[in-house]
Amino acid sequence: MKRLIIIPLFVVLLCCAPFFLFAEGKTETPQPTQKPEQPQPEAAAGEPFDAKVTLRVLTEGGVKEMSLEDYLVGTLLAEMPASFPEEALKAQAIASRTFALRKAETGKHVGADVCTSYACCQGWTADATTEEIGRITQAVRATDGLVVTYGGTLIDATFFCCTGGKTESSLAVWGSDIPYLQSVVSPGEEDAPRYEDAVTFSAADFAEKIATVAPEANLSGSPANWIGSMERTEGGGIGTVFIGGAPVRGTALRSALGVRSTDMDFAVTDDAITVTTHGFGHRVGLSQYGAKAMAESGSDFKAILAHYYPGTEIKKLLCP
Ligand SMILES: [Zn+2]
Repeated sequence: MKRLIIIPLFVVLLCCAPFFLFAEGKTETPQPTQKPEQPQPEAAAGEPFDAKVTLRVLTEGGVKEMSLEDYLVGTLLAEMPASFPEEALKAQAIASRTFALRKAETGKHVGADVCTSYACCQGWTADATTEEIGRITQAVRATDGLVVTYGGTLIDATFFCCTGGKTESSLAVWGSDIPYLQSVVSPGEEDAPRYEDAVTFSAADFAEKIATVAPEANLSGSPANWIGSMERTEGGGIGTVFIGGAPVRGTALRSALGVRSTDMDFAVTDDAITVTTHGFGHRVGLSQYGAKAMAESGSDFKAILAHYYPGTEIKKLLCP
């Protein structure tokens, strides 16, 4: 087994791209600093990548070493229903592989390449039926070594559950403009179990939560006057809303209220505020239920990834 070491992988990707990466679509133009040699002999193209790379995975029980293939199977089992269409599972496998290898490059975890926290890296589980494991393993192996790249480097392959009809741009949610993380339409997700949700807060509870993000907000009097003007993002979320006269970012509001997305609408009575959300998650990058809808309409994993990560290319990693 070849052990994945953070710096060498990064160096290999940067310096030996013509050796290490095969373009699936357009042919990569060698950079001036790269040698124009041909890729590895053809025999190497048939060798598995995922089974030969070992990841150090930080779990609740400590760091465990496992092959990239075993890691991805456990990640997909945790992150996407195994009953999803095959092309959606393949798209998720490629996104998760890309996400994990990029995380490993960043060196975020000392002594580990990735962790199993949903919030930090990606979830992981071995708790599944034989049939589920079989379907997921098939999707991982069918996409062995495939990653999503932009400008020759691994993308930040963010993904989430579902939208309210459009994804959000990275700029709108995280403040950084990333060319392949833009707002795109994402139709056909209405059957997602978390597509729409409503939470009702008492006026007192709402005011208490708002105080954690906007202590200057004036929440006296009737709640009917609390919600002021708002600016929407391209993806349909709240960019900024005035609450009690104070500006509150949609992302901060989502966090303070603990609701499913920034795509919120408000219904106010004399003593309560009901917040209705559409979509679930940060809604930046690949929508899992959007991928399902595209796959059910006949799109393959390449079309799905090209839609949610515009301007990117899929490439195949090969062991040097
Ligand atoms: Zn992590």
